[in-house]
Amino acid sequence: MPYSVTLIPGDGVGPEITDATLAVLEATGIEFAWDRQTAGATSIERRGEPLPHPVLESIRMTRVALKGPLETPIGGGYRSVNVSLRKEFNLYANLRPVRSIVPFRSYADLDLIMVRENTQGLYAGVEHFVQIGGDPHAVAESVAINTREGCRRILRFAFEYAVHHGRDKVTLVHKANILKMVSGLFLEEGRAIAREYAGKVACDEKIIDNAAMQLVMNPEQFDVIVTTNMFGDILSDEMAGLIGGLGLAPSANVGEEVAIFEAVHGTAPDIAGKGVANPTALMLSAAMMLEHLGELDAGRRVREAVIATICDDGVKTGDLGGKATTKEFAKAVARRLK
Ligand code: NAD
Repeated sequence: MPYSVTLIPGDGVGPEITDATLAVLEATGIEFAWDRQTAGATSIERRGEPLPHPVLESIRMTRVALKGPLETPIGGGYRSVNVSLRKEFNLYANLRPVRSIVPFRSYADLDLIMVRENTQGLYAGVEHFVQIGGDPHAVAESVAINTREGCRRILRFAFEYAVHHGRDKVTLVHKANILKMVSGLFLEEGRAIAREYAGKVACDEKIIDNAAMQLVMNPEQFDVIVTTNMFGDILSDEMAGLIGGLGLAPSANVGEEVAIFEAVHGTAPDIAGKGVANPTALMLSAAMMLEHLGELDAGRRVREAVIATICDDGVKTGDLGGKATTKEFAKAVARRLK
């Protein structure tokens, strides 16, 4: 039986990296029944809405999606479809592994995991303007919302991940010195859950600004990092920068029922349509999806084929200093899988 999976190619470089990833998945021999759906800016063009009902229905049915990046208007405009999907399906954990593939600057062998809370904090979507006199936007207010339950489940997810993947340490990243309540609650729960895992997983804590600096100065000291939504969003791009950029960083959005796999990066408008985007991040996200489906061997093979293509065959896209197009890179990875 083929796996039924919702496929959202996305905007910008999305369709290019999705085609490349499909070619690689086909080469694994694992069969998929793709339910192709359109969301984001592409859907606005075609249907006048960014998140049409059939997309939600499809994911509700398949419970697994492979997704390209979706454009979100900056400032005004419609709400992020990415954030809406995460909230709709309660995908509370955003897992972002950051592993060295090629030596980059002074880092050759990084292996870090970001566990980002994905539905709460400043991304809860509670914001408004306050009018003063004739200025309707005189004051802007955004409310960060963290619940005790929300903190507990992401923290437990991080510690459980550490136990099941043989990880030594979880670092709690917070700003509880200033945001005494919204970040303080996260830290309080983190300390409590760390005590439950004492003897099995070590735990330390860092204030976000120090964590950001330490990641650049000495990233090897980290193992699993768990943090709230916005800190995780920012730090995971920084972490991708340590291994060679966003072209290499995969992710999984995980809830109790549904999981959506996507690259960490966005639509890359500066290179969209040129056929030069690096599809590695989406291919590695697809490898995570295969593992989620129980296809552990196929997931491992995809990851190894991507690494061998870059490191042994020297086939690289422009972001890694190579000349390969997205399609050429995909062909080279698929060849390794056959
Ligand atoms: P971006 O991640 O799209 O691009 C940042 C930089 O990284 C650009 O220089 C880009 O060329 C480069 N880059 C990204 N992916 C690459 C790849 N696969 N290969 C080579 N280079 C790559 O970030 P941005 O420009 O800030 O955002 C553009 C749009 O994407 C915005 O609308 C934003 O809201 C959206 N976005 C979506 C998601 C998502 O769908 N999950 C995530 C982040 C941003």
